[in-house]
Amino acid sequence: KNRVYSFGDKKTDGNSEMKNLLGGKGANLAEMSKLGIPVPPGFTITTEVCTEYNDLGRDAVIGLLQEDVAKSVENIEKSMGTSFGDNENPLLLSVRSGARVSMPGMMDTVLNLGLNDDSVLGLAKKTDNERFAWDSYRRFIQMYGSVVLGMKPETKEDEDPFEEIIDHLKEKRHIQHDTQFTIQDLQDLVYDFKDAVKKRTGHDFPTDPWDQLWGAIIAVFNSWNGDRAKYYRKINGIPADWGTAVNVQAMVFGNMGDSSATGVCFTRDAATGANEFNGEYLVNAQGEDVVAGVRTPQQITHLGSIRWAQLAQIDEEERLKDYPSLEEIMPELYAELFGYQELLEKHYRDMQDMEFTIQDGKLWILQTRNGKRTGAAMVKIGMDLLKEGLLDEKEALMKIEPNKLDELLHPVFDPKALKRAHVIAQGLPASPGAATGQIVFFADEANKFKNAILVRMETSPEDLEGMNLAKGILTARGGMTSHAAVVARGMGKCCVSGVGALKISYKKRTLTVDGKVYHEGDWISLNGSTGNVFEGKVATIQPELAGEFAEIMALSDKFMTMEVRANADTPKDAKVARSFGATGIGLARTEHMFFEMDRIKAMREMILASTVKGRKAALEELLPMQRKDFEEMFEAMQGLPVTVRLLDPPLHEFVPHQLATQKELAEDLHISLEAVKSKVAELEEFNPMLGHRGCRLGNTYPEITEMQARAIIEAALNLKAKGIVSKPEIMVPLVGTVSEYVEQEKIIRETAETVFKEYEDTLEFKIGTMIEVPRAALMAEEIAKRAEFFSFGTNDLTQMTFGYSRDDASKFLPVYLEKGILPADPFEVLDQNGVGQLVKMGTNRGRETNSKLKVGICGEHGGEPTSVEFCYKTGINYVSCSPFRVPIARVAAAQAAI
Ligand code: PEP
Ligand code: MG
Repeated sequence: KNRVYSFGDKKTDGNSEMKNLLGGKGANLAEMSKLGIPVPPGFTITTEVCTEYNDLGRDAVIGLLQEDVAKSVENIEKSMGTSFGDNENPLLLSVRSGARVSMPGMMDTVLNLGLNDDSVLGLAKKTDNERFAWDSYRRFIQMYGSVVLGMKPETKEDEDPFEEIIDHLKEKRHIQHDTQFTIQDLQDLVYDFKDAVKKRTGHDFPTDPWDQLWGAIIAVFNSWNGDRAKYYRKINGIPADWGTAVNVQAMVFGNMGDSSATGVCFTRDAATGANEFNGEYLVNAQGEDVVAGVRTPQQITHLGSIRWAQLAQIDEEERLKDYPSLEEIMPELYAELFGYQELLEKHYRDMQDMEFTIQDGKLWILQTRNGKRTGAAMVKIGMDLLKEGLLDEKEALMKIEPNKLDELLHPVFDPKALKRAHVIAQGLPASPGAATGQIVFFADEANKFKNAILVRMETSPEDLEGMNLAKGILTARGGMTSHAAVVARGMGKCCVSGVGALKISYKKRTLTVDGKVYHEGDWISLNGSTGNVFEGKVATIQPELAGEFAEIMALSDKFMTMEVRANADTPKDAKVARSFGATGIGLARTEHMFFEMDRIKAMREMILASTVKGRKAALEELLPMQRKDFEEMFEAMQGLPVTVRLLDPPLHEFVPHQLATQKELAEDLHISLEAVKSKVAELEEFNPMLGHRGCRLGNTYPEITEMQARAIIEAALNLKAKGIVSKPEIMVPLVGTVSEYVEQEKIIRETAETVFKEYEDTLEFKIGTMIEVPRAALMAEEIAKRAEFFSFGTNDLTQMTFGYSRDDASKFLPVYLEKGILPADPFEVLDQNGVGQLVKMGTNRGRETNSKLKVGICGEHGGEPTSVEFCYKTGINYVSCSPFRVPIARVAAAQAAI
């Protein structure tokens, strides 16, 4: 079994197809080597070893790797003409993680590995650059100390232990920037850092390069199970058993002086999708400096630099002096980089996110990957690559992550409100969107407010969870490629970065702009598309879904064979659903219509009635209201089917449980408070979800079914008289036995006949049932003999198949997910192996006795992409989901069919 794969100019074992084994970074490094792109030589330890490490532990895994790693290091030495552990001519290494899919910043990296008190002197002599050598050494101790030896801040208010030492020295020396340190200062830092390590860990900092290397490799494996990585996996649905690969690579240096630089670039704009090469770099710096947002990075292209200067309000003279573009100061290297980005985008047929370093006038490419992007950029890039002929229609569609479309459906600022809004500062438009919320200064306090805006000097990977909870992110430092910007774009979260005018005090929890102080809890608004920061709240409106979004939708329609309907209870929702392309309503929950003020009273009257006559009188009152609801729904969806479900929830949900409201009700209905109380007590159930609900209501109180059936048929006939076509489908909930269904069907048909006679007119309609009790799936052949359609209510079906109460599962599901007892929340992602089998069986058995049976699903799963794919494979006719998920389900349905 091969555990180690080399890449570089001498020997390359892997390629880009091997992402599962080599991780994304390792596979792409191998591929780039093959393409002849200058990549520093190195090797990749496979993801399988990460799993072995988790099983066998440190020593056993080092034993397994020792020989291969030694050989691979030899390869690097040959390629670079240096020697690992040599004091005169030392080879220095970088050690980085690299999972199958990129998890930016979530795992650990160590740079400049191999330095110690002796080799630092060799490096200084060899490069004739003493300052560079000592700067590299102090950075190494800092990174290794933090990543491998656990030298982290002890509390969130504490500073990083190494940064504290740096700040201390700066104060003593009256200087502001790292670049002002003398060689002596850097040497002092190295000794102070090592002292701090000894004090905190009780051990000396390791001097043997091999000890350093094994320590770093193991630390990368450990970081796979770090909190950050775990959380990132959770929100992105990445399985824990994938593991991470480890990439060990020869160091190249961007911090060797003014002919060295390092940067990050994108072949297209990751925020908007525009086809413009862009990125940021720093002269005389190491890669971490660019993304950490500590120094203000410069733009790679001339055009980008001019635009940036405008936003930062910097005039041309200052721009050219302090922030020139790479295109301007190193035109030849820029041209070389431009060539590689073109080559790589064509090769991978997708937008690339690349890292590069220029060491003393030579360009090296350190990494390429498919770039993270916003939902808007995803849609634009997909359609553009199609138009450019790089992708065909199916491939373009497969590039869409359905869930990311959600971002495009979110509100944007109302242009009218924007005109009146007060701009307090301007930053970089790091990730588009509109966010209004209350200021918080710490990521772990993002849940303090329902709508929080996280305000930070810069963000770090530790802040991930808080960034996810916040509505928007605002940073004082950092550019378009800073951690905050990259992560926010990946999450589709609004972010404005690099707002230099912000003065943040974490201690006082204040934000000061132009002398005005804002406190924690104050409202601000961010426009991630322009970089504007506003005081207070700014109103939002629904975005228009035109352009490439509409093109993607049209493309989906071309390939999808399964219908997408919506769950909608009001005419307003129905209209939204229709505008998103729903071809019908798959579930209208009628109970939601009874909660409005004027209706709840009639409803309660009906429930409290002690005789059939009393109940009928109350239902009489409800009839015209229901009829009006249905008329509006049918009209909104005219020509398209509307599935109306009969009353489903237990009646106790409609009666008041508080004394004051009970009193009011008693007065309203002219009955005694005692009568109300005793009725409420009578309706009390031990397991309401398994109690008197669904068709059990309609079978015990047939008057209810009768009233609802009448309202539906009358509404449709009234519209028919106006020339409006409606296609009602009446759905019986919670059926478990054939007779339950047959009883309800009989009432509906008889009622329809009566209404037809009264109207002297008729109309086509369907009657069917929900399949949400396991027994119904088992009895599907029998039920399908009578029912015209099935709709799987996978919410209840999941509840009853697992035996997990929908209302109580939150008590244990988080623990189950954390421990890996369940792979995903079954109420969100359909459990294909269990509940899914009932869906499959129910569908197949139903069609055995009724070949025309129409089958749909209307649980929450109807809008979840993997569940949609399952439905397609099962041969279901339609999925039905909430209106805002309709576009997502359409793309998922098209992808399933491709
Ligand atoms: C279901 O159970 O899946 C369903 C759609 O019905 P409800 O969520 O209203 O119980
Ligand atoms: Mg249900």
